[in-house]
Amino acid sequence: CGIVGYVGPQPALGVIVDGLARLEYRGYDSAGVAVLTDGKLDTEKRAGKLANLRAALEQTPRDADGIGIGHTRWATHGAPNDLNAHPHVDNDRRVAVIHNGIIENFASLRLELEERGCKFSSETDTEVAAHLLSQELKDRGDDDLAAAMRAVCRRLEGAFTLVAMFVGDPDLVVAARRNSPLVVGRGDGENFLASDVAAFIAHTRDAIELGQDQVVELRRDSVAVTDYDGNPVEVREYHVNWDA
Ligand code: GLU
Repeated sequence: CGIVGYVGPQPALGVIVDGLARLEYRGYDSAGVAVLTDGKLDTEKRAGKLANLRAALEQTPRDADGIGIGHTRWATHGAPNDLNAHPHVDNDRRVAVIHNGIIENFASLRLELEERGCKFSSETDTEVAAHLLSQELKDRGDDDLAAAMRAVCRRLEGAFTLVAMFVGDPDLVVAARRNSPLVVGRGDGENFLASDVAAFIAHTRDAIELGQDQVVELRRDSVAVTDYDGNPVEVREYHVNWDA
């Protein structure tokens, strides 16, 4: 339902949870975040209101590196509980994924992944994306999360905005979209992405709207957009004029 991603010098958790709060008006049944803490993937997710997530984050304070992703979920596959809340991770806890929309062919992908030995911990359609990215990175034998995302997206059917981060590249958030919104906010030495500009308008009003079937690589100092085949695409930048 709501998506926020951040790379930059600010403490990532604050930026992400505040961004999620600005998307609350859209409605949701659970919320979660993934950050890197000393290079390790750290996730927290809770059914119910953002207050539940905030309380859980206060119980185990973490010193996030300046990167993270967050999600408010509107369940379509799997009950609205803690386990089904996003982010979802692979079995090695190297990749974390959040997702808006529906992956229509998740059942056959899940079978295929289970045959390859993946263990699932949720009932969501989304979790296949975490395992697929992890398998793709292993098959490639490199740390190119954007290339892995492009390969995975070519296999997915349905409507999605998919956002991932990866311990192998701690300065990178990668996102892809098909039939589901995604906007990038450009800052100075920091960059944002979200399902709606409202999530980052307190930080920047310089935005890029992603086109259909595009993948964005978000780093502190750069934003690069390609199609699913890896061809660079020209982006349309605009300035958000309205008051938040
Ligand atoms: N289909 C996913 C799920 O049920 C994503 C739902 C959403 O867009 O929030 O977890």
